[in-house]
Amino acid sequence: MKVKRVIYPGTFDPITNGHLDILNRALTLFQNVEVLVCENPSKSPLFTLEERKRLIEESMKGIARIKVSVYRGLLVDAVKKGEKAIFIRGLRVVSDFEYELQMAIMNRKLNPDIETVFLMPNEQYIFLSSSMVRDIVKFKGDISRFIPRVVRLALKEKFKDGVKP
Ligand code: ADP
Repeated sequence: MKVKRVIYPGTFDPITNGHLDILNRALTLFQNVEVLVCENPSKSPLFTLEERKRLIEESMKGIARIKVSVYRGLLVDAVKKGEKAIFIRGLRVVSDFEYELQMAIMNRKLNPDIETVFLMPNEQYIFLSSSMVRDIVKFKGDISRFIPRVVRLALKEKFKDGVKP
């Protein structure tokens, strides 16, 4: 059965150059990639789902082969039964592996038509995460090398009145 959908799911709070690296690698392998901006019950987000979607769209402007959507709910339910799909995930360091393995196996148990494909970013992004970006920006550190310009501006706007307790 042919793969119908290639989905890159994540929280993307906010998107970083590490995510973009994975997305660009996925685009060298697959014709179209859908980025799915998800809620994550174990994280309290800085940006709303819609804001995160807009930041991804603006960071990937001009690339017609991607589509960005927001998704609320259990990720496997985003794929119809019988519809062969691939989830793209990024693997940075060994500590990502256990969580990602658990999730990939569980998703496959819930829907055997979903296969997870892992991609590794350029080594300069191995230690980069959205949470690190949020923390560094909160304390006025310079992280501009690691995030798209639109994200830098959005973060500046979020923290313009200082850090909220
Ligand atoms: P989630 O809450 O689903 O882990 P994230 O937005 O943190 O959402 O990450 C989405 C995916 O992108 C995950 O597979 C994560 O490992 C990957 N990822 C995050 N940051 C990077 C990075 N710097 N380099 C490569 N992959 C990354």
